[in-house]
Amino acid sequence: MNQNLIPAAEAINKLIQELNRLPGIGPKSAQRLAYHLLRAPGEQTKLLAEAIISLKKKVVLCSTCFNVTESDPCPTCRSDERDRSKICIVEQPQDILALEHTGIYKGLYHVLHGAITPTEGIGADDIKIKELLSRLQDGSVNEAILGTNPNLEGEQTAMYLSRLISPLGIRVTRLARGLPFGTELEYADDVTLTRAIEGRQEF
Ligand SMILES: [Zn+2]
Repeated sequence: MNQNLIPAAEAINKLIQELNRLPGIGPKSAQRLAYHLLRAPGEQTKLLAEAIISLKKKVVLCSTCFNVTESDPCPTCRSDERDRSKICIVEQPQDILALEHTGIYKGLYHVLHGAITPTEGIGADDIKIKELLSRLQDGSVNEAILGTNPNLEGEQTAMYLSRLISPLGIRVTRLARGLPFGTELEYADDVTLTRAIEGRQEF
């Protein structure tokens, strides 16, 4: 430890260290953010700290669709305005944000929390596939839209799901047309996503 550091600097170092662990934040950005927060009004840093703490305290997963929510079941699963005959299956909660932003899809969702990735030891039992299948049992759903990412893992997962869902007599479609291969849904723009939803094809 550098003896020349004043005690306050230790707190800055700790914050830089924690910020640096966030995705997309390198050491330089972490440093910049830490010094920015140091200069920011106390009220602003307090709000940020409280937001981070309540994130873990208040946010739970919906026991039906596994999206993040503050009330279980989530507002989408509870809503009378959603088309309950369609379920769009996505990898992450952020994918729902992207799809909802287009305003075109009115069905339900199911979040898998990952994709089948054998290279990382993630199999079908490690994501919410069992839970999806039990949702599809009651016959109320007539279309399953595979909204996994258009990359290798997403395609593998879509293929696996299709083999399980098709025999249930449910129409299986894939949300992929217009989405360039190798991308993630979360980063697709509204126009591309709208086209992908409208142009979904039998899978
Ligand atoms: Zn839900």
